[in-house]
Amino acid sequence: MKDLDFEAMRKKMVEEQLIPRGISEKRVLESFNKVPRHEFVPKELWQSAYNDYPLPIGGGQTISQPYMVALMTESLKLKGDERILEVGTGSGYQAAILAKLAKEVYSIERFQDLADTAKKALDSLGYKNVKIKVGDGTLGWEEFAPYDGIIVTAGAPGIPESLVNQLKDNGRLVIPIGGSGFGQVMTIVEKTGHAIRTSEICGCMFVPLIGKEGWDR
Ligand code: SAM
Repeated sequence: MKDLDFEAMRKKMVEEQLIPRGISEKRVLESFNKVPRHEFVPKELWQSAYNDYPLPIGGGQTISQPYMVALMTESLKLKGDERILEVGTGSGYQAAILAKLAKEVYSIERFQDLADTAKKALDSLGYKNVKIKVGDGTLGWEEFAPYDGIIVTAGAPGIPESLVNQLKDNGRLVIPIGGSGFGQVMTIVEKTGHAIRTSEICGCMFVPLIGKEGWDR
């Protein structure tokens, strides 16, 4: 494989995929310029690691398109002192981006092998504020709740009640809702007291969220 200039590839990704589509928060753009996305995909995909689409990471799962990761991240409006829960660790890339922008990141993955590979990548890159566990993320991670923000990186049939319960007052949950394919809608849930307000930001396509408060299969 010819030498790849990953720094230049990251810069191009930010300038051609994120900024023109409206991602504008300086800290978010900086994190995309810094986090080595190629370290979260198999080596044979390094050449396309910064391209404008999702990539396979094994077991039928994917690392999401960079723009989707950026949009969901920016929607959380992070300042730096937050505790965040991610459901669907996958490759660990989204967790690495969040680790740069928030204080603590807790991430749940249903497949052991994906969780192991993600942990290895995050550890080798020195991320110390990410904890990963294997389990059903639709039930959240009660031990460290409540969370300032929750990000779900798989498509759900509806808003999981356990996740809303584990959200802080004024917290935000970002989650793709809807059936398989392009029928999904990226949704932001804002919690105020016992009330929730939802807003839809765009259509999207994610692998299914499978679990007790997700899809059966
Ligand atoms: N955030 C990931 C990244 O940065 O690579 C992308 C995640 S991929 C689109 C969705 C992931 O959600 C898959 O790895 C899948 O196994 C996982 N998943 C699906 N249902 C889940 C559940 N109930 N709990 C935890 N993980 C789940």
